[in-house]
Parts: sequence; C-alpha cells; structure tokens
Amino acid sequence: MLQINNLHATVEGTEILKGLTLEVPEGEVHAIMGPNGSGKSTLAKVMAGHEDYEVTAGEVLLDGQDLLDMEIDERSRAGLFLAFQYPAEIPGVSNANFLRAALQARLPDGEEIDAVAFYKDLYAKMDDLGIKREFTGRSVNEGFSGGEKKRNEILQMTMLEPKFAVLDETDSGLDIDALKVVADGVNRMRSPERGFLVITHYQRLLDYIVPDHVHVLSDGKIIKSGDKSLALELEEKGYDWVIEAAA
Ligand code: ADP
Ligand code: MG
Repeated sequence: MLQINNLHATVEGTEILKGLTLEVPEGEVHAIMGPNGSGKSTLAKVMAGHEDYEVTAGEVLLDGQDLLDMEIDERSRAGLFLAFQYPAEIPGVSNANFLRAALQARLPDGEEIDAVAFYKDLYAKMDDLGIKREFTGRSVNEGFSGGEKKRNEILQMTMLEPKFAVLDETDSGLDIDALKVVADGVNRMRSPERGFLVITHYQRLLDYIVPDHVHVLSDGKIIKSGDKSLALELEEKGYDWVIEAAA
C-alpha cells in the first residue's frame, strides 16, 4: 500500500506541495482531481524522483519503504511506475530495446531475458492497446502523436507490471475510442496486489476507470475526499465550491 505523509516539496524555491497526506490501500484505485496548477504533476514527479523538485518534509511509503530515500531506478524496481502527462521522446532508443532493458534491469545478475517470450508478450499487449507493430522499432515516442504517446505509456506499464502505478492525465490527447482502449488496459491490470493513482482534470476518464476514492488537490493539499460521486459533482459544479468550503 501507498502512504504519503505530510509531503512538502518546492520547485525553484517555491513551495508547491504543502503538507499532502494520502493513503491508497493495496488493490484500490484512487483518483486525484484538481484545478490546473494545483500540484498534481508535481506530486507524480516527486514520487518518481524528478530532480527539479526538492522534498522539504514528509515521506512516501510503498509497502513501508520510503521511496524518497531511493534513486529513481530503485523506485522503479521497488514497483513504482509513472505514466507522464508529457512523455519524453528518446531518439535513438527503440521502443522494444527500451522495454527490454527495463525488464532486464529487474532480473537478478546473470539472468537473461527470454527474447522469444518477450516479443510474444510485447506483441500481444501492443495488439490489446491498438499499437501497430511498426512502433516496436521506432524510437521511444519520437514523432508519436499525443494519443500514441499516451498509449505507449500504458504499454510500458503493462509490460513492467508495477506494484503501484501513477497515471498523470493519461486521458489528455485521447479520443473516446482510444480512451476506452487505454481504460481497458488499466482495468485488466487491476488486482488485489496493485494500486493506482489516477490523476485527471476531467471526470470522463473515471466513467471507464471507476475509482474506489476521489481526492481533490488544491494549492498543494488534499482538501476533500469522497467516492466516485464526488467526481460527478465536480464535473457539474467545478472546483470553486470545494476550495471555498476548505478555506
Ligand atoms: P498541475 O499538474 O496540477 O496542473 P503542476 O504540478 O504541474 O500542476 O504545477 C504546480 C505549480 O508548480 C504551477 O504553478 C507550476 O507553474 C509550478 N511548477 C511545476 N513544475 C515546475 C518547474 N519545473 N519549474 C517551475 N515551476 C514549476
Ligand atoms: Mg499536470
């Protein structure tokens, strides 16, 4: 399970996360919604260990281990996965080699990945996500459309089978058909041993990935939590009433 306690973080000297506390029990899907600029992506990047962000207080525990004490690659091997809001392009590194290296890095020293099994698994998952075979040999995200990048993030997630996945606005850039395909991919991965934090600005995604809980992030703190109906209420009434009530 994921436990975030009193997390404070700054970027370029400005405090963005201001005492964020959140618990996601094993097997649950929690959604974080909030106005633009409230710190949603900052939370995701702090969890993953992005170097632009400085944690000034708090802890982020995954199964009791503080992720903040770990290097980025250690966090990944500990089971954390982040699907970026703006996925990076990695020219010169093919999608297949990237995934293979990431999986290889999870094996004990001296163990080699089975190439036949790897490609079989990769192609099956690409088919599920509607990603064309030619993407295997193309550089990671290079020249991909917004929607293709988002599907590729989900492909990485399904290949790496993380213990805990954070999806940062994976719905943006997707048309409704792609959104359903991506949501199916996430839903297939839901399991009693795996948790998800789904960050979204719109409730539309939550029609397809139905969360166990919904939290509102505003000005670096969770100001309200509820069940799925909270997302519908936010869709209808916007964020101001929650922010005013919390002030
Ligand atoms: P959200 O994802 O909720 O829209 P962000 O976490 O991206 O919000 O941003 C929160 C605030 O932090 C914004 O005011 C943004 O301008 C600022 N911020 C985020 N990342 C950086 C950065 N790398 N450099 C400077 N300011 C940043
Ligand atoms: Mg964001």
